[in-house]
Amino acid sequence: MAVTTPSAGPAAADALTSFTAHTRLLIVAPHPDDETIANGLLIQQVRAAGGEVGIVLLTDGDNNPWPQRWVERRLYIGADGRRRWGARRHAELLRAMQRLGVPAAALQQLHWPDLGVTSRLLSTHQAAVAALTSAITTFRPDIVVAPALGDRHPDHGSAHVLARLALARLPSAPGLLTYMVHGLQSDTPALRLEGSPTEQAAKRFALSAHHSQLVLSGGRVQRLSGRAERFFAVPPSLAAPDGGLPWRPPAALHPWLRLSLVDAAGAHTWRWREAPLRRGDAGGYQLSPPRGEPVASPRFARLSLAVPSPWIFDHWGWCEV
Ligand SMILES: [Zn+2]
Repeated sequence: MAVTTPSAGPAAADALTSFTAHTRLLIVAPHPDDETIANGLLIQQVRAAGGEVGIVLLTDGDNNPWPQRWVERRLYIGADGRRRWGARRHAELLRAMQRLGVPAAALQQLHWPDLGVTSRLLSTHQAAVAALTSAITTFRPDIVVAPALGDRHPDHGSAHVLARLALARLPSAPGLLTYMVHGLQSDTPALRLEGSPTEQAAKRFALSAHHSQLVLSGGRVQRLSGRAERFFAVPPSLAAPDGGLPWRPPAALHPWLRLSLVDAAGAHTWRWREAPLRRGDAGGYQLSPPRGEPVASPRFARLSLAVPSPWIFDHWGWCEV
């Protein structure tokens, strides 16, 4: 039995949170396992209502060196090794999908490099947005579920930006809900799923298909997957009305900071000191209004540090501007 608790959110969200045989749900998953960890109950409930589920997988999940070294008992991982790991994760994903009642034909893959979604978005902007738009129009969803903008994994935050830009291209866009895997979201969810004991067991069985992700971080992955699934509506605009940015990075870091701006027209990255910024009255930073053409919406900014680091998670990440 489905245990669905829609919040008292906007009425428009209701259509996104009750499922029928006509529901067509498309999940944007940056990596193999996001479909199960964040959406395993949702998938089952849409399937139980007779609806269709599609998955668009952005990366092959192939950049996963420590679990790979452990499983394959080898230190060096070259291009062949990465391909082999991507193939392993693809097989795991198909098994997990089968356990959630989703056929293999429901999977569309973009084959971008793992940890490479941000660079696809920033350096091949139009092609990246077009590829996701095409995956959406191929499946014809009425609900798209994509990562939250504030997710600290760079592939996830950038997947949100891509999904928003892709949906903005469509004359009649499906509804959008978001999910958070890495990070906290304090808003009230539009949909919260606890799942029945049977659904929870099926989700655990699907997660166990992602063996490669459980060998070194099984506890963490199982904790993430065992939480209630929460899906958030995207407000009409999350942007600060004055173009203000939420960040005040310390001056000592300025030489290494990069500010990127992305909208329908393209993507630009500046060194912090060359970025189109001015100080606001309260000491924060605001984007200088561009001259000429009006700014396309939605529009997003990302602050990052151009220093190689083993830490993959975003410190500042994305905001809507
Ligand atoms: Zn992921």
